Amino acid sequence: MDNVRPLGGDVYEIDTRMAGYSGITAGYLILGDRPCLVETGTSTSAPVVRDALTSLGVGTGDLATVVVTHIHLDHAGGVGDIAGYYPSAEIVVHEKGARHLADPSRLMASAKMVWGDKLDVLFGTLAPTDAARIRALGDTGSIDLGNGRTLSSHYSPGHAKHHVGLLDSLTGDLYVGDAAGVYLPETGDLRPATPPPDFDLGVALDSIALFEALGPQRLLFSHYGPVEAVPETLERSAEELRVWVDLTRQARAEGLDLNHAVAMVRDRTRERYTALRADDATAEQFELLSGAPSNVAGILHWLDRTPDA
Ligand SMILES: [Zn+2]
Repeated sequence: MDNVRPLGGDVYEIDTRMAGYSGITAGYLILGDRPCLVETGTSTSAPVVRDALTSLGVGTGDLATVVVTHIHLDHAGGVGDIAGYYPSAEIVVHEKGARHLADPSRLMASAKMVWGDKLDVLFGTLAPTDAARIRALGDTGSIDLGNGRTLSSHYSPGHAKHHVGLLDSLTGDLYVGDAAGVYLPETGDLRPATPPPDFDLGVALDSIALFEALGPQRLLFSHYGPVEAVPETLERSAEELRVWVDLTRQARAEGLDLNHAVAMVRDRTRERYTALRADDATAEQFELLSGAPSNVAGILHWLDRTPDA
């Protein structure tokens, strides 16, 4: 299938075709004795992901594990549908996200407030998963991939309080979710993802430092794809966070309202990102996943509740 790409080590990148776009949201399948899907994509992507798994020889009884880095709808919106397709799969998520997968009503209500009419088009509706099938992760945890291979989870808040990174013991791949930002392979751009309500600079930087300390061989971004230059990329992630926070803090000190703060930060960061000077389609993709309004709102929210930040 043209949306499935082998990455070596029995790992396959799946373009989930989020909202019909290509190249913005990836899921990954780790094949082997106990096939494991990392990230489901959105609810509307679930049939696309199922077709990809079928093409890789994973039948309805074969999928052992579904794990999500966090419960934002572009990563976990399809969990309920995928759990339905694959009745023997265990659903693995950080403990702060588990109850929302079992009962998505609050999560969907707050997503509706953020996205409004765009919610259905972008994400669809997260269906509930039987709580008995959900395994909640603490600060660390482990997923059995078969044959002695494991995927170890590492709590990595900052972007979201229910975020984990996942390290493959065989390949050294680290699934970074959104904790290291959004990477655009077409341009090599890397932009922070700092949405409300959980973003916290110090915590986010600690998670990036933890990722560095794990010594991964390769980073697998949910947005989007593999990156081999690990230390450089993680340093860049941290730097971009600092730049956005500094600029937002400045806009706040000048007393700008949200719209003007967004305009200022967007303007002052534009030169950092090739994508925003490229064609409109690339810029739109980038803006959709780590839009300046969401990033600035998240940073302002953190500054407002952190008096000495
Ligand atoms: Zn995301």
